[in-house]
Amino acid sequence: MGIETKIHSLNEAIAKIRSHCQPLPANRIPLTNALGRILRENVQAVEDLPPFDCSTRDGFAILAEDTSASFHVIGTIHAGDWRPRELKSGEAVRVATGAPLPCSGLRVDMQENVRKHGDLIQIAERENARNFRRRGEDAKIGQLVVSSGVCLDAGKLALLASAGHISPLVSPCLRVAHFTTGDEIIPPDQVPRPGQIRDSNSILIRSLLHSCGCEVLQMHLPEDFARAKLEIEKRKTEIDVADLILVSGGASVGDKDFTQPLLEWLGFEIIFSQVNIRPGKPLIFGVNGPRKAFGLPGNPLSHFVCFHVAVTTALAGLLDAAPPQFLRGELAVNLTETLSTRETFWPARLEIAFGGIRLHPLVWASSGDITCLATANALLRVRINQGPMEAGSEVEFLLTGGVVGS
Ligand code: AMP
Ligand code: MG
Repeated sequence: MGIETKIHSLNEAIAKIRSHCQPLPANRIPLTNALGRILRENVQAVEDLPPFDCSTRDGFAILAEDTSASFHVIGTIHAGDWRPRELKSGEAVRVATGAPLPCSGLRVDMQENVRKHGDLIQIAERENARNFRRRGEDAKIGQLVVSSGVCLDAGKLALLASAGHISPLVSPCLRVAHFTTGDEIIPPDQVPRPGQIRDSNSILIRSLLHSCGCEVLQMHLPEDFARAKLEIEKRKTEIDVADLILVSGGASVGDKDFTQPLLEWLGFEIIFSQVNIRPGKPLIFGVNGPRKAFGLPGNPLSHFVCFHVAVTTALAGLLDAAPPQFLRGELAVNLTETLSTRETFWPARLEIAFGGIRLHPLVWASSGDITCLATANALLRVRINQGPMEAGSEVEFLLTGGVVGS
């Protein structure tokens, strides 16, 4: 297998990832398991929504233009009842909230505005509101209600349920194997000896993947190629079915860096091994039929950036979801130290102020920095050889997290 040494621009890398990551077969699953899955079909309303004119008040239905001084209450309809009948002038039907109206051309007066005397009522105060939902006013039969390619969240699942769409066609839950490497790396519950570093990449990747609805297998590999292969052999059956393999660290050209040969040993053809971005230059992408792999540089910030600029593109391709989009906002303060021969992804905090999107660049000195991840919710895209940028200038950015409470 040939070793690809060209340094790719991010755009070239993204184009290669997209061209290699085709959607995996979709399947139908119960609605109750579909949270976070990507919908793979357009869903139409199979009935009008709501399916009948229904009262939004506890009150009395009368003919819309009926100005009678009093009304004779000729019946009661509760939610779930079905009692069609034509009303005449001077007649009223008592209706509960959610009750189907008995015929068309009605209005509902809420009971708080009505005086009752036995079977007779008088309307003390006439409202302008019609107080009922018209059949099909929310969606008409056959109308598209949820589009293919969206991630099913609580609101969309509620809509599918109301349309009776109980087995949506969705992308599979991707199985991802994430290997950490590095003999200096120890589990986060241990106290590091001099020279050791607590593993932060495992929880970072696990959390990012869970938020994309993936199943995650994680293991640490010894920093010795032969021993690393033996470790993998022990869980080969699980690893062989992973749709995506991520290797943390060892992506560079140090004498112990074995990510590229490891991926080749696992049957992956290396598509690229370097991308001209900062942080995260030694970024490897490999392909083995429908299975894909990335070697991600071990530094936490590089990991974060490479996940958002590259891995998410692959996930979107495999899941048939919309690829990550660069958005535009306004730089909140002057940004210097932008000059680089590499495209820079600058951790930033997005805020919505005065109706606009403002981005505050966060302080970071090296790709080993991690404190900025506590506040980052965006990555600014700073072009190659970009000079200082002034507050107020337009910037491109990628969202990395929710805006609320993040
Ligand atoms: P590498 O990509 O293996 O050359 O590692 C680059 C830097 O990232 C080194 O300083 C490593 O200690 C650090 N690093 C590698 N893996 C992890 C990890 N799982 N958690 C935190 N830091 C890591
Ligand atoms: Mg290492």
